[in-house]
Amino acid sequence: MREIASGQSSFIILLTPASQNDMKSMSKKKNIKNPEMSDKGKNWNVITGCEKFSDGCRNCYAEDVVEWLKGMGKEVYLQHGFNLTMHYDRIDWPLNLSKKPKKPVKSFVTDMGDPFHDKVTDRFIFKIFEIMLKVPQHRFYVLTKRAGRLGELGPQLPWKPWIWAGVTVESEKYIDRIDHLKKLSPEVNKFIMMEPLLSSMPELDLAGINWVVVGGESNKKMKFRPMKEEWVIDIRDQVKSADLPFMFKHWPGKTHNAKEALLEGKIWAEYPESLLVNMDWDADIINL
Ligand code: SF4
Repeated sequence: MREIASGQSSFIILLTPASQNDMKSMSKKKNIKNPEMSDKGKNWNVITGCEKFSDGCRNCYAEDVVEWLKGMGKEVYLQHGFNLTMHYDRIDWPLNLSKKPKKPVKSFVTDMGDPFHDKVTDRFIFKIFEIMLKVPQHRFYVLTKRAGRLGELGPQLPWKPWIWAGVTVESEKYIDRIDHLKKLSPEVNKFIMMEPLLSSMPELDLAGINWVVVGGESNKKMKFRPMKEEWVIDIRDQVKSADLPFMFKHWPGKTHNAKEALLEGKIWAEYPESLLVNMDWDADIINL
C-alpha cells in the first residue's frame, strides 16, 4: 500500500495476467501519479499528423501538441504541421533503447497520429513491425481508430507478445471497432482504449480482449466533454467480471494530480504483467 499525495487514502497497483502466456499475477508497491500507459518521453512518433476521423477527435490532443511544438520553433513541425508524415529518419529509434533494460520501455507507436491512417503505406507499417521484432525487451502499443484497416491488414502483420494491438472506442457508436480487433489471431495481445469516454458502454463483449483502459478527455486547451462516473463504474465492473486488468487514467481535464484518477476512492492502475516485467519469450513465440 502507498499513501497518495493527499495522505488521506491508499492504493495498490495490481498487475494482472494478460493472456495464456502471462498466467502469473503479482502486486507491487510503486510510486505513481495518474496511471500512464507509456513511459514519459518514450512514445515512438514515427508517424505524425492526422485528420479527424470520429467523435473522439474533436479536441485532438496531438493537434494541440503540434501547434505548441510549432510555437516552440520545432523545425519538423514548422515544416509538416499536422499533415500526415512518415518519419523515415525515426524508424530505427527503438533499436537505440536499452538492450538489457531493468524493465521494458512502454511505447506507443505514435501518440501524435494514427498508425493505420489511410495515407500510411502498407510498406511503412511493415517496416515498423520489422523494427519492433528486433526489440522483444520492450513493449509497443499499436493503437488506432481506423479499425477497419487494422482488421484487413492486421492479420498479415507479424504480431508478437511484446506488440499490443488496440482500438479506441470512445462511445457505444464505435463498438464495432472491437469486432475488427478480434480479427487478429487469438495469440495477439489486445486492448481497448476508451479515451475520451463519451458514453456508457452497457454491453461489452470482452471475450478475447486482454486489457481495458478508460480516460476522460484532455488536451492543452483544456477543452473537454463530460464523462459520467456511472459509465466508468459500469465498464470497470464488466472488465472485472471478465477477470481482466482495468486502468482508469483520469477524469476529463487531466492534471498531474493523482487525485484526478480516483474512482470510488481508489486508483485503478492494473497492467497486464508482461507490460511491466522482463519476460523470457521462448523460441517458439519469437519465431511465430
Ligand atoms: S485519430 Fe487521433 S491523432 Fe487522429 S485526429 Fe483523431 S484523435 Fe487526433
